[in-house]
Amino acid sequence: MNKHDITHHQSTLSPKDASPGFSTLGLESPLLTTLGTLGYEEPTPIQQEAIPPLLAKRDLIGRAATGTGKTAAFTLPLLQRLAHSTRQKNPFALILVPTRELAIQVSEAVHRYGKAQGIGILAIYGGQAIRPQLVALKRGVDVVVATPGRALDHIRRKTLQLKDLQIVVLDEADEMLNMGFAEDLDAILQQTPKTRQTALFSATMPPRIASIARRHLQDPVEIQIIKEPIKAGVAPRVNQIGYLVTRPHKVAALARILDMATPKSTLVFCRTRLEVDELTSALNTRGYRSEGLHGGLNQAQRDRVMASFRSGKTELLVATDVAARGLDISHVSHVMNYDVPSSPEAYVHRIGRTGRAGRTGEAITLVEPREQWLLKNIERLTKSKIEMATLPTVADLQAKRLTGIGTSIQEILTANKFEQFRNVVNTLIEKFDPVDVAAAAIQLAYGSKSGERKEEEIPVIRGHEMEKSRRPQGSKQAPQERSRGAKIRGETGRPAGPRDRGGPSIKMATLSFSAGRNAGIGPRDLVGAIANEAGLPSKMIGPIKIDDQFSLVKVPAELARDIMKAIGRTRLKGKKVSIRLERD
Ligand code: AMP
Repeated sequence: MNKHDITHHQSTLSPKDASPGFSTLGLESPLLTTLGTLGYEEPTPIQQEAIPPLLAKRDLIGRAATGTGKTAAFTLPLLQRLAHSTRQKNPFALILVPTRELAIQVSEAVHRYGKAQGIGILAIYGGQAIRPQLVALKRGVDVVVATPGRALDHIRRKTLQLKDLQIVVLDEADEMLNMGFAEDLDAILQQTPKTRQTALFSATMPPRIASIARRHLQDPVEIQIIKEPIKAGVAPRVNQIGYLVTRPHKVAALARILDMATPKSTLVFCRTRLEVDELTSALNTRGYRSEGLHGGLNQAQRDRVMASFRSGKTELLVATDVAARGLDISHVSHVMNYDVPSSPEAYVHRIGRTGRAGRTGEAITLVEPREQWLLKNIERLTKSKIEMATLPTVADLQAKRLTGIGTSIQEILTANKFEQFRNVVNTLIEKFDPVDVAAAAIQLAYGSKSGERKEEEIPVIRGHEMEKSRRPQGSKQAPQERSRGAKIRGETGRPAGPRDRGGPSIKMATLSFSAGRNAGIGPRDLVGAIANEAGLPSKMIGPIKIDDQFSLVKVPAELARDIMKAIGRTRLKGKKVSIRLERD
């Protein structure tokens, strides 16, 4: 197996070029144009390493977590290969993913990257009506993105034909194994042509993944983006903090952090030009003075933005990595990562912008739940600690504003310069209590300080303990889905909830579902429903017990109500089920 080391990409491009870094990897138009439109300025490390061998039809194992740009890493070569081949009615590529959510996400990405090619994509996953899938498959699709269970269903019905398949991608392979899909994967891969190209991506590489790779991949190129911890050029005085937040709340979260920290000069990093533009306008709408900087600007525009930032007229500079690389800014007090950067190098580059010249700096990263692995990798490889903190609440912000007003009032009192206002106070205290008058005045000051903006509560999400190694070897795997006509399993061999994995003890609660063995419910239906509907990683789900009439699933107690709410809207095996929280 070839080990590919990282090569740091140095951009030598004129800012107007859309995505020349991608053309050096062998990608052609119209993909290059699409990438330019999406605002991608350069390939991420996994893309640099994976795209050339995939274009050369090599099999590949990529160790990459979500957020590294792995979806484009396998989709772009796939689309180019498709463009160079004769289109068949049967699928050209099959992408297997663990959950419905990911199936939708990946198919949307394929659609985005393949728009100019006008390709046919179909996402198929359990829980979805089968008829429209059958119609689409009959009409012919180029790329199928599927969860293994449902893919196998279609293969057995002969509605999914694999004989013309040229490419198979196993995305988040470790998650698929965690969800008990190992046998399904074997069964599917066995029915694909021997000549196919196979790419396997996984955040972790437990022995079970190696064994799948041994059985189904041929002489794969192995990409592990960084094998050695990188020398962190991180100034020791950078305080590194992360906040877990879901995508829809990211702008509000950033605003909350800015309001609490009131930074002097801040550099906000985004991944794409598009994101820079969107975030800049969202921040300006909220009343901040921000400007965007990216590779799409000409020199005069750059100069203007930089001059405005240096003079303090612009408080927030929102930039892509490429644009910031050429920046001559000696010091910023805060670096904010709007996304977790796609590689530890990028992270180190970004946060190196603060904490310079002996001054202290803050590096703040917004982390989406799916990006937690990526952040852990960065911590490990930069040998630094990123403290996860809880976002300040509306009450925290109010308290801070009030404290600020209190301090200002004290300063005015000390300076004794309020003579002209005494008359108003004297008139008011004839009718009202002096303390009430003072409080009303503070309310007035508070209103003008907080502006008209209505503060929203941002839901608190807790990170999950990311264990170093998954299920120990030899321990029972997650239960298999019932194959048609097979005997239904009773209790599952699910090894454990998060408690038994070396992490701190997590309080678990039991959810009771009103359907069990008699309704054909298998463990995977429950794991699938929870993972799909509530977005809970399968490893967070504890032991499952299936009885004739009901099923019990242990889940982290603090998430139990959210899970119930999320699942309340779905069906299990086509039936509506009710869920209760059992008192332990
Ligand atoms: P993934 O790891 O595939 O889930 O991708 C994470 C995010 O990075 C997605 O929102 C992509 O749109 C974005 N992305 C992927 N490749 C690049 C790139 N080369 N430059 C900027 N953003 C990218």
